[in-house]
Amino acid sequence: MATPLAPEADWIRVRVSGKINLALRVGAVRPNGYHPLATVFQSVSLFDEVGVRWDEPGRFTVSVAGDQADLVPSDGNNLAVKAAKLLADHYGPHRLGAEITIRKTIPVAGGMAGGSADAAGALLACSVLWDLDTSPDDLRGFGAKLGADVPFQLMGGTAFGTGRGDQLVPVLSRGSYHWVLALSEDELSTPAVFRRFDEFNPEAPDDLPLPNEVMNALVAGDAVALGDALINDLEPAAASMRPGLVRVLETGRELGALGAVVSGAGPTCAFLAANEAAAVDLSVQLSSEGLCRAVRRVTGPVPGARLITA
Ligand code: ATP
Repeated sequence: MATPLAPEADWIRVRVSGKINLALRVGAVRPNGYHPLATVFQSVSLFDEVGVRWDEPGRFTVSVAGDQADLVPSDGNNLAVKAAKLLADHYGPHRLGAEITIRKTIPVAGGMAGGSADAAGALLACSVLWDLDTSPDDLRGFGAKLGADVPFQLMGGTAFGTGRGDQLVPVLSRGSYHWVLALSEDELSTPAVFRRFDEFNPEAPDDLPLPNEVMNALVAGDAVALGDALINDLEPAAASMRPGLVRVLETGRELGALGAVVSGAGPTCAFLAANEAAAVDLSVQLSSEGLCRAVRRVTGPVPGARLITA
């Protein structure tokens, strides 16, 4: 491990992406409080940037800028700080410290795992900054301790997740998909949506159905089949807490989307378009309906956490 030459050493910057769930099947809550999941993640081109540089040993600070920055904790509750501390505790307690900056674009509490993405970015950036001997597998192990979505946010692309969503295998996915995202005015708490799911599904299955339709559509590169196959077991729970979501989903379908789904625990809605021109049309029309805070056009799959400068 290298010793810092000076606390002003260069920033290490990492780009991280948001995710949507193309399929999200949810089982009955387990005694440890977790729900078993069978999910297909896809990273999409909505990016946060995480920067780190050396700070005094044991000192960890974060500043947040960009979209909805006021909703993100700027203290030890920030997941990027937790990630940096986790690495420091393991590799160099009393020796390592980091100043962290985050530029947000991924919606906060929007079901796109933005906090997990920032944690993934901080893990990668700090491992480079501090010159740690960590393999991708090691980083995924640290990530899993921070949150179920962090391992995928390190990896990116398209992947099938089981367990809490942290047991991952890459999914063969042909082509690039054009998505339109409807970002909501409000946030939704993921634990609250799962609690509502439990109320709605006292008999949720232990054996989760495999999302074969989604996987087959991805292998074939068939956007029409993928649009038909999108599924999210949390959607009824999220929609019961934000009834406006039903209208947003219906409107996107009426405007020609191949498929529509709430991402994760919501409230972001993802619409699949047939191609780039259709995505432009859909995003313009959806914006003019005035049903959501903002509309974003993205593509997927894209990579997960990646260094911008070293
Ligand atoms: P989840 O990953 O639980 O499904 P989400 O994707 O819907 O959540 P996030 O943007 O990750 O939403 O935010 C969830 C909560 O995490 C926020 O309300 C916020 O208070 C907290 N949080 C902590 N660190 C961060 C961060 N770096 N960026 C965004 N939110 C953060």
